[in-house]
Order: sequence, then structure tokens, then C-alpha cells
Amino acid sequence: MLKVANISFGYTSKEVIKNIGFKANKGDYIAIIGESGSGKSTLLEIIYGLLHIEKGTVHWNDEKLLGPNFRLIPGEDFMKYLPQDFDLMPYTTVEENIGKYISSQDKNKEKRIKELLKVVDMTEFSQTKVKNLSGGQKQRVAIAKVMAKEPEVLLLDEPFSHIDNFRKNKLRRDLFKYLKSKNILCIVATHDTTDALSFADKILVIKNGKLIANNTPDKLYTNPKSAYIASFFDEINKIPISEIKADDTSKKSVLLYPNQIKLTEISGIKATVVASYFKGNHYLIEAILNKTTVFFEHPSSLKTGSKILLEFDVKDISKKKY
Ligand code: ADP
Ligand code: MG
Repeated sequence: MLKVANISFGYTSKEVIKNIGFKANKGDYIAIIGESGSGKSTLLEIIYGLLHIEKGTVHWNDEKLLGPNFRLIPGEDFMKYLPQDFDLMPYTTVEENIGKYISSQDKNKEKRIKELLKVVDMTEFSQTKVKNLSGGQKQRVAIAKVMAKEPEVLLLDEPFSHIDNFRKNKLRRDLFKYLKSKNILCIVATHDTTDALSFADKILVIKNGKLIANNTPDKLYTNPKSAYIASFFDEINKIPISEIKADDTSKKSVLLYPNQIKLTEISGIKATVVASYFKGNHYLIEAILNKTTVFFEHPSSLKTGSKILLEFDVKDISKKKY
């Protein structure tokens, strides 16, 4: 088990990681999400042992991990870390890059390289020099490379940032299936929440260096504690309750996803259409309700300026106040 306890860290006197703690088990997939600059990369570097922390501890299976001040070569052996700006050897082939850390004495070396090439869907490029690959292809090689010497813990920083959507979905499915099958703990920093929602066992949400949520994807999605959290999953509406219920004077708001607001014929709340955005299987409609902008889903586009009536899917408003 990985145990991160009460860690704080600052590059200068200003702390950018503030008292963060969490636990993760073998085989788990943990997604770290947060806006740019919130501290995701810093947190991964601390866990890997690249940054010295004065406050807090990191344990793996009861063993305390020592930071860079106590190790000649930074980084732990059982752990692999893929930084945001991965580095590969440009003038050697894909196969050589992946095999670099596997001993040539290892009887399974070839088999292992083949297996990894398949996971990242790069088999046909095994003999290609890295300098001749696209950004996304390089990134896939980099992912295979950190898995070469089967680690127990894998830390990936924005691993799919250069990979186009067409490839990304298959890669994510293949990679996370593979990691589960090998019982490898994987911690991924990402601002792309598709991989977090569909694959993560737990999502850690970081804001300004603080851990503000640590929960399963479905719990975070269905019951987000703040607009910041919900905004990673979808366009989020923060609507003052007084806009929905005229008799409410609480000055509180509800958080609603676009699929929780619908057009209705009778007894709805009046709004005016501002714009319609095509989203493939539906339109996202932007409308204005008194002073509040709302986004909701609708099967067709609506005429800009038209007056509409809206219905809000708020089951128990008293429990959903912010
Ligand atoms: P994220 O990965 O979530 O975008 P980072 O961990 O890279 O966030 O950065 C967290 C904070 O630490 C930011 O305010 C950033 O400017 C600062 N920071 C990151 N790296 C350094 C560094 N090497 N020196 C000083 N400040 C840094
Ligand atoms: Mg980062």
C-alpha cells in the first residue's frame, strides 16, 4: 500500500502542496485532477522522490521512502515516473528505446518488448527511429518505456496530452486493462477527465495545493461538493435557488449539469435562448434566466432570442445548497 501522509512542500517559502494525505492499494488507478498550477506534477515528483519534503512522509508497504537528500540516484527502483516532457533517445529505434532498461541477459526481453509494443499499439513502428515519429507516437513509446521493467507503482504526468482522440480511447482501454492485469498501482495526473471518470478507482481533486476531494468517480460526479469539482466533468450550472423558487430567500445556489435541465411546455421558469452548440448527439443550449446564464441539453437547436420555459431536476433542494 502507498501511504502519503501530511505532506507539505514549497519551491520557495510559499507552499504549493499543503498538507496532502491519501492511501492507494496495489492495482489501483488513482487520477489526480486539478487546474493548471494546482500542484499535480509537484505531488508526483514528491512521491517519486525527486523533491525533498520537510513535512510529511511517503510509505510503500510500511517502508518509508527517502527523498533526494538521502539517495545518490533520485527515484525509487520499484516505481517509474513519466514526466510531462518525456525524454527518448531520438536516433535509436522504438524497440531499442523500450528495451534500454531490460537486461540483455533477460531471456524474456524480446517477448516483453513485443507485449509492450502491443499495449501501446506501436508494433508496426518497432524498427523506426524515434526522431521520425509524431508527438503522439513518441508519447506512446515513452509510456511503454516506463513499463519495460515491470514497476509496482507507475506515476504518469499527463500521459495522453499529445495523443489524438481517435487513438486515445483505445490506448486508455488497453493500458488500464494491462495495468490491472499486472496489479500495478498507477497514479495519473490529468486535466482530461474522461480517463478519470471511466477508469479511475479514486479521483483526487487538488485546488491551490490542497486536496479538496478524494472519492470514487460516481460519488464525485453525482454529488460534487463544489462547482470547481463538477466543472471537470461537464459544463456546470450554478443557479441561485431564488431563480427557481421565488419564495426562497436563502441566497444559496444549486449545482446542475446540463442534462438536469429540460425544456417544458407548462409551468416552467422563463428563459431566453442565447445560442445553440452542436454536440453530436445533442445540442448544448445557452439561455439566460433573469441574470443567470444556464446551459442545458436539447435534441435540436433553438432559435436565438426565443422565449422558453425550463424545468429543473432538483430532487431534494434542501440537500443541495452551496
Ligand atoms: P500542475 O502540474 O498542477 O500544473 P505544478 O505542480 O507544476 O502544477 O505547479 C504547482 C505550483 O508550483 C505552481 O504555482 C507552479 O508555478 C509552481 N512551480 C512548479 N515548478 C516550480 C519550480 N521548479 N520552481 C518554482 N515554482 C514551481
Ligand atoms: Mg503539471
